[in-house]
Amino acid sequence: MAKVLCVLYDDPVDGYPKTYARDDLPALDGYPGGQTLPTPKGVDFTPGHLLGSVSGELGLRRFLEERGHTLVVTSDKDTEDSEFDRELADADVVISQPFWPAYLTAERIARAPKLKLAITAGIGSDHVDLDAAIEHGVTVAEVTYCNSISVAEHVVMMILSQVRNYLPSYQVVLDGGWNIADCVSRSYDVEGMHVGTVAAGRIGLAVLRRLKPFDVHLHYTDRHRLPREVEEELNLTWHAGTQDMVPHCDVVTVNAPLHPETEGLFDDKLISTMKRGAYLINTARAKIADRDSIVRALESGQLAGYAGDVWYPQPAPADHPWRTMPHHGMTPHISGSSLSAQARYAAGTREILENWLDGESIREEYLIVQGGGLAGTGAHSYSTRT
Ligand code: NDP
Repeated sequence: MAKVLCVLYDDPVDGYPKTYARDDLPALDGYPGGQTLPTPKGVDFTPGHLLGSVSGELGLRRFLEERGHTLVVTSDKDTEDSEFDRELADADVVISQPFWPAYLTAERIARAPKLKLAITAGIGSDHVDLDAAIEHGVTVAEVTYCNSISVAEHVVMMILSQVRNYLPSYQVVLDGGWNIADCVSRSYDVEGMHVGTVAAGRIGLAVLRRLKPFDVHLHYTDRHRLPREVEEELNLTWHAGTQDMVPHCDVVTVNAPLHPETEGLFDDKLISTMKRGAYLINTARAKIADRDSIVRALESGQLAGYAGDVWYPQPAPADHPWRTMPHHGMTPHISGSSLSAQARYAAGTREILENWLDGESIREEYLIVQGGGLAGTGAHSYSTRT
């Protein structure tokens, strides 16, 4: 029987919700491009309910316990002698969400001799040391596509809110004011701007598609070029590398995974090649940008704004400089954890567990590491240190 250790974010401060703002979720037929939505044999939760917090348990308890497995759910992951560390010693499976990542470092993996499967209930498995997972024969899987569109919507929201100076203008209203000049002296139209994405995978391409009706000039860089018909349909300009693209852009959005090739990409040097007053939107991973370079660029005016929802570490400490730097539009890591997304990644997590427990193969598109190497989506989009 397996022990499944699930690390989730805390419940709302007022307690687990008894009611919700809406009664249902829209029914989706599939993902863009034809990938099917998660196909578990069943679910024990109500789509639209809070599943990603401790009491939501990703809807897994009944399913696992009916089959005789053990489920441990905790949010305590970073304290000394945390519950996560204690329970990890004999866990077979670890599940966590990128929003509240259970950092599976090489040291932790070495202290978990029974660990065979690490599931990311979401997308982005950089909180797992993939080299160590490969070395120890741990399978790593994530719920590919589950929240890609959720993030793409968030990126568009952040681009508009930064360029149009929405957040400070909203603050004027909250403060009882009406000073239009203060609001508009940093407010522009997106129309006509050059917008570029670092990576045009599921999120990056969805961002490009959503921005097309805004009559902007669209740019991208990616290791694999998009099909020619997509480039033509969206009138895309492709650049061989990030360095080649960013000098042309008024807005840059980062949609690549964090791996050795992308870590620290946006440092002082790269940012200095951007147009003065460019906006940088990063909902991918915080470590793709150098923390202090971002602060310096906002303070000097080299960047007009920075927005995103990804931090390092997570949760971000109260004195993290991105909380107080000028002209930012940061949120906690929420873009991929809407109630809509939660229903999909809870179902996908269940699908992966069902497959693994029944000795069936996990979908190729969900795999990051398997059989001692990068696999599936991992082989396509990630790299290792070695
Ligand atoms: P995909 O795997 O569909 O796309 C990732 C793309 O990044 C691929 O096209 C890949 O290129 C490209 N890429 C990888 N390395 C580079 C590089 N060095 N330069 C340029 N492009 C590169 O993933 P998604 O679009 O679904 O997600 C992307 C990332 O967004 C995730 O890895 C995760 O970190 C983050 N994310 C954030 C969320 C949030 O809540 N904020 C939620 C979900 C994801 P190719 O494969 O062509 O080589």
